[in-house]
Amino acid sequence: MTDTARSHGRKSIAASAQPRDLMAEPPVWAGVWHAQIITLFPEAFPGTLGLSLTGRALKDGLWQLSTVDLRAFGEGKHRNVDDTPAGGGAGMVLRPDVMGRAVEHALARAPGPVAFLSPRGRRFDQAMARHWAELPGITLICGRFEGLDQRVLDHYRIEEVSLGDFVLTGGEIAAQAMLDAAVRLLPGVLGNAESAVEESHSDGLLEHPQYTRPAEWKGRGIPDVLLSGHHGEIEKWRRAQSEALTRERRPDLWEAHLRRGETAG
Ligand code: SAH
Repeated sequence: MTDTARSHGRKSIAASAQPRDLMAEPPVWAGVWHAQIITLFPEAFPGTLGLSLTGRALKDGLWQLSTVDLRAFGEGKHRNVDDTPAGGGAGMVLRPDVMGRAVEHALARAPGPVAFLSPRGRRFDQAMARHWAELPGITLICGRFEGLDQRVLDHYRIEEVSLGDFVLTGGEIAAQAMLDAAVRLLPGVLGNAESAVEESHSDGLLEHPQYTRPAEWKGRGIPDVLLSGHHGEIEKWRRAQSEALTRERRPDLWEAHLRRGETAG
């Protein structure tokens, strides 16, 4: 324990030059959806993606995840990955030469689209999750510090994608959130018991309220129609709830829905 603590600095530099564990740098399987993450924190993966349905699917080989350790491509003895911003200002910026090497390494392993997680990016949504799920796979770059030298984005024509209008400390959480949304749409990941067809955002509407047993809880019952066994009426009720919720909470989605002319009546 004390040994490890004392030599921690040297050890982590040596370890970062080669695959850190079994998850890093496995061979890329042909025909299996592949996510590749360029990150300073490979240990953050699979994280929550290793749990539940996405984790089971990962174990079963329905998709594949690998990390590319940015540190391994760093400069010099200390494997530096960042430097001060040109023009001055606070914080550090990820160097283009270092990230460039990591991107080229990643593309040599698994060619395909690359996206940079960034609060300046296009806002991720269900349509993007669907699009990603239809690709052979995706490579995601997680930023840290103040971000990434612009020239990398320009040179490789990398799209910036945002999780939402807030600033995270790094791209890792955003990458996991987006991958979760894409992976659950891959064939076979959701079993028969779960469905991606009738969910929020699957048809541009928010989902109706859900209930389960017990039939009464703290004096609150379940809407009668749901206990009626009348499937036609249940469908109608759910659709009406869905529309009312969307109209009330997300006027933007509701407007788009009306424009598509998809109202049930
Ligand atoms: N200075 C940058 C923010 C840097 S935050 C700016 O103002 O735009 C550090 C890193 O966290 C970013 O490079 C990005 O990879 C990640 N990040 C932060 N917020 C994010 C968000 N909303 N969506 C996706 N990634 C984000």
